[in-house]
Amino acid sequence: MSKRILVTGGGGFIGSHLCKRLLDEGNEVLCVDNFFTGQRKNIHALLSHKNFELLRHDVTMPLFVEVDQIYNLACPASPVHYQFDPVQTTKTSVLGAVNMLGLAKRLKIPILQASTSEVYGDPDVHPQPESYWGKVNPIGIRSCYDEGKRCAETLFFDYYRQSKVDIRVVRIFNTYGPQMNQHDGRVVSNFIVQALQSQDITIYGDGSQTRSFQYVDDLVEGMIRMMNNQDGFVGPVNIGNPNEFTIKELAEKVLAMIPESTSKIIYKDLPSDDPRQRQPDIKLAKKKLDWEPHIDLDEGLVKTIEYFKRELAETPSVI
Ligand code: NAD
Ligand code: UDP
Repeated sequence: MSKRILVTGGGGFIGSHLCKRLLDEGNEVLCVDNFFTGQRKNIHALLSHKNFELLRHDVTMPLFVEVDQIYNLACPASPVHYQFDPVQTTKTSVLGAVNMLGLAKRLKIPILQASTSEVYGDPDVHPQPESYWGKVNPIGIRSCYDEGKRCAETLFFDYYRQSKVDIRVVRIFNTYGPQMNQHDGRVVSNFIVQALQSQDITIYGDGSQTRSFQYVDDLVEGMIRMMNNQDGFVGPVNIGNPNEFTIKELAEKVLAMIPESTSKIIYKDLPSDDPRQRQPDIKLAKKKLDWEPHIDLDEGLVKTIEYFKRELAETPSVI
């Protein structure tokens, strides 16, 4: 049945894919974004859709609208951007959660929080199951994001226990794909944009740190399954692709897939608190949501490289 669905951060990378999928399934979508990191062009094709509405709004301010479900994605996700104004990043996670939970409470509707693998910090347990409490520096340069998201999870579970709000929490692991901003600053878009422009590929540290990369379509499927599960399953649940790569392997892979590139790999200082390893344990998502990722890194990179080729042909960039 068609629903009215609020997507905060709907102009961003993941949010724009989610808005499109929800519209394709026949829903009405209200996209709320302040365009701090989002791009209007991500949702340009949706603006003429009769069931799509865009509202420029900052989630740190209260919002009064009538909807049937909320996906709360508003928050810069790239270290470069969330560290640009760290106080605003924490406010976005914490006040944004309070405002959206208040809305869900008043309307008695389900609300899904886009949490993150960053709640595990620089993990000692590998791969990371949901039961692991993490190892997070509370006062470092990543803390505005990590602790903001941890506090948002706390608020979600307290609204659940205290006010019976119908919550769902997904912990998203590194996700990539078309509609990432070419200036996003995260590793997949950086390496592809650098390779396509034959600029140096910038590995931070020695490149031995690992990440597990998920293609955006797999994530959107997992989020929708989580929102619509009827078993009272509130999470938190990891949504990620367990295929783990070193950052050096990723650089080499991207270069091999863009044979015309003359880029060289260079090494830069590793930022502080950069997690050494990250890999989701997805047993819970398999069991509760019958979900697992289907798009491997090679397949996802092909689609993402094609996207950035088109993007750079229109607006060449220098990282
Ligand atoms: P993104 O930066 O492309 O999207 C975030 C969106 O939120 C942008 O459109 C931005 O303008 C908007 N926004 C930021 N602050 C806002 C505010 N105060 N009010 C309203 N809108 C605001 O990032 P993304 O990769 O699409 O991430 C979306 C969500 O998923 C974020 O909450 C992020 O923490 C979470 N997440 C993403 C990843 C990933 O790998 N992409 C991993 C873990 C978690
Ligand atoms: N990274 C890198 N070069 C870049 C951008 C990132 O080597 O141009 C590294 C970064 O230090 C980290 C990994 O790639 O170890 C993933 O970084 P990203 O910002 O994509 O995500 P996160 O650290 O939040 O997982």
